[in-house]
Amino acid sequence: MTGFTLELTEDQRTLQKWLHEFSVNVIRPAASEWDEREETPWPVIQEAAKAGIYSLDFFASTWGDETGISLPITMEELFWGDAGIGLSIVGTTLGLAGILANGTPDQLAEWAPQCFGTPDDPRLCALAVSEPNAGSDVSSMKTTAVYDEAKDEWVLNGVKTWITNGGIADVHVIVAAVDPELKARGQASFVVGPEFKGKGLAQGQKFKKHGIRASHTSEVILDDLRIPGSALLGGKEKLDGRLAKARERMESAQRGHHVKTEREKGGQAAMATFEASRPSVGAQAVGIARAAYEYSLEYAKTREQFGRPIITNQGIAFTLADMKTRLDASRLLVWRAAWMGRNSVPFSSGEGSMSKLYAGETAVWVTEQAIQILGGNGYTREYPVERWHRDAKIYTIFEGTSEIQRLIISRAISGIQIP
Ligand SMILES: Cc1cc2nc3c(=O)[nH]c(=O)nc-3n(C[C@H](O)[C@H](O)[C@H](O)COP(=O)(O)OP(=O)(O)OC[C@H]3O[C@@H](n4cnc5c(N)ncnc54)[C@H](O)[C@@H]3O)c2cc1C
Repeated sequence: MTGFTLELTEDQRTLQKWLHEFSVNVIRPAASEWDEREETPWPVIQEAAKAGIYSLDFFASTWGDETGISLPITMEELFWGDAGIGLSIVGTTLGLAGILANGTPDQLAEWAPQCFGTPDDPRLCALAVSEPNAGSDVSSMKTTAVYDEAKDEWVLNGVKTWITNGGIADVHVIVAAVDPELKARGQASFVVGPEFKGKGLAQGQKFKKHGIRASHTSEVILDDLRIPGSALLGGKEKLDGRLAKARERMESAQRGHHVKTEREKGGQAAMATFEASRPSVGAQAVGIARAAYEYSLEYAKTREQFGRPIITNQGIAFTLADMKTRLDASRLLVWRAAWMGRNSVPFSSGEGSMSKLYAGETAVWVTEQAIQILGGNGYTREYPVERWHRDAKIYTIFEGTSEIQRLIISRAISGIQIP
């Protein structure tokens, strides 16, 4: 048995160094331009694809690391470069994770390569869950999927919103209600290829955003979208079995027989899937926070007022000490949750949520302190810290808001279904 260590392996250090160099040489120099343009940075994605970063092989091998740490290392280094570009590079993995979690091995083999395209012609994938009236409360989703048995087709109708890569992706993974009465248990995931763009699937409004502006976010409109039966991830038999069980549970609850749900039993299969992706999102926030901390530390050592560097004021030095402490604490929470997720250690206290919650709020706080340390310069677009602050804010909102993370943690630690 090996002892406890937080030391990175040689492979992990090599990965970190390689991605850091890509961030320094390719992502950072492009960051301001694509933030201003508010467009998907296709040339940068292509460079990432040519370097072997934007590829199925790369993400498969990163996921393969049994310590779980390679994925947060990857996120931290790319997002240290720039969060909007970083999300343009890793946004595809959101949809891919949806295929991995719900699809059959054959569906994964068919669709995963299409999510990335080729280095000469990279493609994107999107995961469409959120709707105008179903953000935190995904169970109230209105998008429907109706099975047309005669044609073995599914017909999807509804509006998805705030979708990363929505409409510009080649592959859309769409979550829809098959049996709305069953709420979250009556939902299923579908994979939609590029041939349906303009034929039932269309991009709606593209949003202009506060931050991560290089990342494309838009509505996806589903208007009588007819897709083959094979588009249902996991297949019809599995879905029918799942729906039957959910109906049985609902009927028995209506009769007053309370059957303990997986969630109440602490199993939380679906929750565990979401929880597992949260450390990666937390790691992205760590990358932004680290960028701002490093930048403001250097600035504080060189900027002089009253005849001495501003860092010689305790007010500045102690702020930097707190920034570094919170940054490192965030990374440790992220690594712990990533290791637990990869090794199937149950998140008995909502550790996945803890990592995303703390890292997200730390990134907002650290980047705000960085602006303060840079003073007037920090407030202008001549310096990157204001962009990092704008970028950081999304980390208290998407992939479950801070409040929703606190809800998950408080339920987990109390065993009480806090509403
Ligand atoms: C840039 C961006 C990219 C996104 N990418 C995707 C994507 O690719 N795919 C996708 O499906 N979605 C995506 N989203 C959607 C995102 O996941 C949702 O915005 C998020 O889940 C919050 O939902 P909402 O915006 O409807 O907020 P609401 O749910 O309306 O919440 C509003 C406020 O109320 C609080 N609140 C709600 N319920 C509770 C409660 N029970 N207790 C306490 N407070 C509560 C929230 O915390 C929040 O502060 C993206 C969003 C953005 C902005």
